[in-house]
Amino acid sequence: MRRHYRSSSRAFARLLPALAPIIAVGACSDSNAAERLGAPRVLAVTILGDAGDPRTPPVREALAHWNDEMSRLGRQVRFDSGTVRNDSVPDDILRDASNAVLVGGPEVNALIAKLSSEPGDIVVALSHTDLISFSVPWRNGLKDVVGLRRSDIPPLSLPNTVRNVAAHELGHVLGLPHNSDSTTLMCGRPAPCRPAAFASTTPRFFPLTPSDERVIRSRWP
Ligand SMILES: [Zn+2]
Repeated sequence: MRRHYRSSSRAFARLLPALAPIIAVGACSDSNAAERLGAPRVLAVTILGDAGDPRTPPVREALAHWNDEMSRLGRQVRFDSGTVRNDSVPDDILRDASNAVLVGGPEVNALIAKLSSEPGDIVVALSHTDLISFSVPWRNGLKDVVGLRRSDIPPLSLPNTVRNVAAHELGHVLGLPHNSDSTTLMCGRPAPCRPAAFASTTPRFFPLTPSDERVIRSRWP
């Protein structure tokens, strides 16, 4: 996650202007009917990993946490609870995409193509390697992808880290950039934030900033 924190902030900052209208289109494209009915749009999440993977419960907690945040912010979009598929993406493809997402290399498209037949709007891939956790921001007509590093060694073996790293990556999926406040969810490079900073013996999610909330309000209906 170290390089992700450093470089993805720059890459994401570069992507944001281009992504803004795309995300807006993606958010609104098939939500109109649901909005007319007063029902939130639901984004389906596929969790690719071994049955019983210990990261699945905290990933689901992160999805539920974002739903609470969206409700608190009055947004009409929710995640479902995540459907586990006992499947995996080859670790070399995930690792290559993790490295390439920083610079927008073709390996990212290779990963998205690999996942094109998977159900759902967002795929959370549970890696078996110590790659840098990453997310591929929304692009119109393509899936969002979150890749999570292995959790049997630090930093994700530390308590409270997986749920927050998952929520952090989902924050990128929803359009949030990094900030420099180490007490908040979206802190990342170039600020001195690492996944281990989420460690806590008390389960809790790190909060959004007022700036994050403005972005969410502007991006999501
Ligand atoms: Zn990040």
